[in-house]
Amino acid sequence: MSVKTVSQEELKEQKMYMQKVRSVTHTYFEKPLAYVHSYGCQQNVSDGEKIKGMLEEMGYGFTDTLSEAKFILFNTCAVRENAVDRVFGNVGALKHLKKKNPDIIIAVCGCMVQQEETAGKIKSTFPFVDIIFGTHVLHTFPELLFKCLFEGGRILEIPDSDGVIAENIPVKRERGFKASVPIMYGCNNFCTYCVVPLVRGRERSRKAEDVISEVKGLVERGYKDILLLGQNVNSYGKGTDIDFPELLSRLDRIDGEFKIEFMTSHPKDCTERLIDVIAESEKICHHLHLPVQCGSDRILKLMNRHYDKAHYLKLVDYAREKIPNLNLTTDIIVGFPGETREDFEETLRLMKRVCFDSAFTFIFSPRMGTKAAEMDDPVSAEEKGKWFRELLEVQGECGSKSYQKYVGKTVRVLCEGKGRTSEEYFTGKSRENIIVDFNGDEKDIGTFLDVRITEAKAWALIGEKV
Ligand code: SAH
Ligand code: SF4
Repeated sequence: MSVKTVSQEELKEQKMYMQKVRSVTHTYFEKPLAYVHSYGCQQNVSDGEKIKGMLEEMGYGFTDTLSEAKFILFNTCAVRENAVDRVFGNVGALKHLKKKNPDIIIAVCGCMVQQEETAGKIKSTFPFVDIIFGTHVLHTFPELLFKCLFEGGRILEIPDSDGVIAENIPVKRERGFKASVPIMYGCNNFCTYCVVPLVRGRERSRKAEDVISEVKGLVERGYKDILLLGQNVNSYGKGTDIDFPELLSRLDRIDGEFKIEFMTSHPKDCTERLIDVIAESEKICHHLHLPVQCGSDRILKLMNRHYDKAHYLKLVDYAREKIPNLNLTTDIIVGFPGETREDFEETLRLMKRVCFDSAFTFIFSPRMGTKAAEMDDPVSAEEKGKWFRELLEVQGECGSKSYQKYVGKTVRVLCEGKGRTSEEYFTGKSRENIIVDFNGDEKDIGTFLDVRITEAKAWALIGEKV
């Protein structure tokens, strides 16, 4: 399959729309303000930064107060039911605002919208929403806004496509000296519970040279923390000339002190070579987010995960041997259709055996269009809730022990800002991506420093600057 890269001509056309909108917003007495909210994962947050980058070029400023905004956009997430419910609630609440001020433009985009039925529901339930567009046409946002502003009418843009790659879209980076860099888009794995492949299209990797030159540019501009994004970074590079471990080693060789994080790794494609590259690197975080989802082989098969518990444990053992201070985190789903108490206990056993540093735990949420949503699901919500609480308890015990090993040691920390432990403390993250609170000061923000750990809490380390 050939990846559709948006041509320079198409992007030039969008630039023209940006200029057209800008030539009008510039004549306004006051700079128009935009309110942009992204729900869900880092990929969505990264898309939100692109939308803001385009809005900025179109002459908009930004506000966190809905009532001040001339343009409001919700960038939605569809991965679980509660995310979807929140969007419906928040969009519904805009009705009164639009009534009071019919000039404001309201837009909804993102993963929820890429599903035709949900987009239709948004369109019919909320007649005051002006623009509805899917994930595959993000780069055409300037054209959609232009048409809405100057031609009027509602716009619904959800092309049926496998997705595209669009380079050189303006980005308004909002995480200080931290920058997200998508290295690939979409997903081909079709885990049976997951809506992502249905709303983000087929897996497609950016060219290594584009990724490397973006990271080089960011480091030169003073960014210190680079987060590489992809639904399954381990399969990066299909259709390009290099794979993920090679991409990481090339990024690691870029001059300067900065750190490289990445997410998410799929256990089926995570190789020993990747672990070796992390172990030997200078800048790659000693953090592996490796979602296991479940400890039962039977359920892993039903989930279409393409690995079993033994494979997962082998990877973990290898990684911990090669990277002794590895911060290992995971995702777990409780109550997959057909999961029995015995299956669930397999998950508990796996958690006790691995003792994750931290785990993101979810109760299964049926998603429209996925295979799991069609499967028999006899276990009650109440029972699933009970299992979920048991899981949290087991994880709580592991998590609270796991940071003890750092006490007395010195770790290198990138200071990010004011601390949470107390007024005098500043906070940052270690190379293992663990939160460290310490006695810093204002000028430490955005720099790396050595901190000697004096105390370990369940969620963070506390220390003194060396
Ligand atoms: N691509 C990543 C993340 C996908 S979504 C990966 O493969 O790990 C993030 C997490 O949400 C998943 O790891 C999974 O644990 C959870 N999740 C996805 N779909 C879900 C569903 N239908 N119900 C409950 N949790 C879900
Ligand atoms: Fe969803 Fe599986 Fe793809 Fe992750 S790998 S995005 S869980 S289908």
